Amino acid sequence: MSQNSTIDRTASASHTASLNHTVYIGLGSNLEDPVQQLKTALNELDQLPRTKRIRASSLYSSKPVGPQDQPDFVNAVACLSTELTPIELLDALQALEQSHRRVRERHWGPRTLDLDILLYDEQIIEQPRLIIPHAFMHTRGFVLLPLAEIDAHLSIPNKGSISDILSNIATDDLQILTKSE
Ligand code: ADP
Ligand code: MG
Repeated sequence: MSQNSTIDRTASASHTASLNHTVYIGLGSNLEDPVQQLKTALNELDQLPRTKRIRASSLYSSKPVGPQDQPDFVNAVACLSTELTPIELLDALQALEQSHRRVRERHWGPRTLDLDILLYDEQIIEQPRLIIPHAFMHTRGFVLLPLAEIDAHLSIPNKGSISDILSNIATDDLQILTKSE
């Protein structure tokens, strides 16, 4: 009995300690009205359980990575505050991708909605389903530019400050389509 209540208190304390993780999500789409896909997805991120959207970048158009015989992409980054664990968040994002009828036909090919966890606090996670920081984020202008727009002072664990990384990366294929709200 007394042991159980000790366990309960511990569980409750660790729950409180897990409140309010700051995460950054990269959004991308190049099929079926990408601007609308992203606007809808940004609202849906705000409605995830135990989660609040704090900021969203402008929407940017970018040239596709990999196969070029596909439409340009629309990209954005959102900052969320969440109680979800990294894997719970990944599950929720993958369910959202599915609800946008995402078709995964080929690697780096066209998609109706791609949702990637870029950063989760300052955590480094290397699991079969989840790599954080996102493995390619430090090489991609369409991730870094919107990220710098919403948080200019951010750093990527083990990679350095966003502004330093951005100064060595081409961003001339990026155009702002819609200003942030
Ligand atoms: P990509 O985003 O690289 O184009 P996909 O969206 O098809 O590729 O994702 C492939 C897998 O990447 C997913 O099934 C997921 O388990 C895994 N993954 C690893 N790290 C992450 C992350 N940080 N965010 C989202 N998915 C991730
Ligand atoms: Mg993805």
